[in-house]
Amino acid sequence: MKRIRQVSLLLAAAALLTCGCSRFSTKPLSFTGMAFDTVIAVQIYDSVDEEVLEHCKTMCSEYEQKFSATIETSEISQINSAGGAPVAVSEDTIELIKKGIYYSELSNGAFDITVGSVSSLWDFKSEEPIIPSPESIAEAKKHINYDKIVISNNTVTLTDPQTKIDVGAIAKGYIADRLKDYLKSQGVKHAIINLGGNVLAIGGKPDGSSFNIGIRKPFHEEEEPLTTVKIKNKSVVTSGTSQRYFEKDGNLYHHIIDPASGYPCNNGLNSVTIITNSSLTADALSTTCFLLGPDKGLRLVNQLDNVDAVFVDTNNEITYSRNFLKK
Ligand code: AMP
Ligand code: MG
Repeated sequence: MKRIRQVSLLLAAAALLTCGCSRFSTKPLSFTGMAFDTVIAVQIYDSVDEEVLEHCKTMCSEYEQKFSATIETSEISQINSAGGAPVAVSEDTIELIKKGIYYSELSNGAFDITVGSVSSLWDFKSEEPIIPSPESIAEAKKHINYDKIVISNNTVTLTDPQTKIDVGAIAKGYIADRLKDYLKSQGVKHAIINLGGNVLAIGGKPDGSSFNIGIRKPFHEEEEPLTTVKIKNKSVVTSGTSQRYFEKDGNLYHHIIDPASGYPCNNGLNSVTIITNSSLTADALSTTCFLLGPDKGLRLVNQLDNVDAVFVDTNNEITYSRNFLKK
C-alpha cells in the first residue's frame, strides 16, 4: 500500500514535469533524487556546467542535515533536545524559524511552528500505522505554543523543554528559494525546481511561453490534473490531505495537524494550492490556509497582493481566489 503510494507520487512528480516541459527541442540538464522524504528534481534549460546541478544536490542534502526533525544531529533536533538551553544555529535556521513564527502569529496559532510535540507522535510512513493514544496527544499538545521560542542573535531557546519545532510546513519552500538564488547567480534563466510537488519556476520556457503546472486531483494522482496553471517566475505549492496519510477503520488520518485538538485538521478541504513569487510564501500560506479552512483561508488570500489560490473541497469542487491569475 505504502509502496504503491510512493511510486505513484514518483510518477506524479514526473508527469508534472513532463506536462510542463514536453515541447522543448533541447533536452534539459536534470536530476531526480530523494530528499526530505520525497522526490526532488531540478531541470535546467540553459547551458550550464554539470557542476551546477551537482551543487544543487549538495545544497539539498546540506539543508536536510540542518532542518530535519528526524536527523538527530540537525540544528532543529539540537534545539528540540536542548532541555530548555540556548542553542547556537546557522542564519538559515534563524531565518526559517522567524518565518514560522510570523505565520503562527498571522494565523493566531492555527499554523504553529511548535506543532512538533504532537506531529512527532504520528507516523504516516509506517506499514502498520498507529493512532497515538488520546492521553499522549492531550499531553503533547500542551507544549504547542510558538511563544515558547526565544531568538537572540544566533541562538534559539525553547522555554518549555517539551516544546518541539517542526519546520516541515515551510522548509521545502525556503530551500527552493535558495536553489533559485543559486541558479540565478550561475546565469540560469529557465529552470524548474520541484521538491516533492513544491514547484518553483525560474523564468518561463526557453521559447518565451509559460510553464504548465498541473494541480492534481486529491487521491487520484494518476488521472488528469484537476486544473493547470501557467506560470513564469512563480512558485506553485499544494498542501492537502492526500500527501501523507493513512486510513484506519474507515477514517482518514493526514499530516496537517490542528494544534487545538492534536488530530488531523478536518474542515471540508482536500487541498489548498498557492501561486506566488516566493516558494517560502507559497509553502507557508498553503499550509496556513488549509488550517484556517475554506472561509478564513480564502479571506486571508484575498487580502494579499500577488497571491493566487485554488481551494479544493472534499468533493473535489474548486474555489479560486478573487482575481485568480488575472494580471
Ligand atoms: P505542508 O505539506 O507544507 O502543508 O506541511 C505539512 C507539514 O507541516 C506536516 O508534515 C508537519 O511537519 C507540519 N505541520 C503539521 N501541522 C502543522 C501546523 N498546525 N502548523 C505548522 N506546521 C504543521
Ligand atoms: Mg507548507
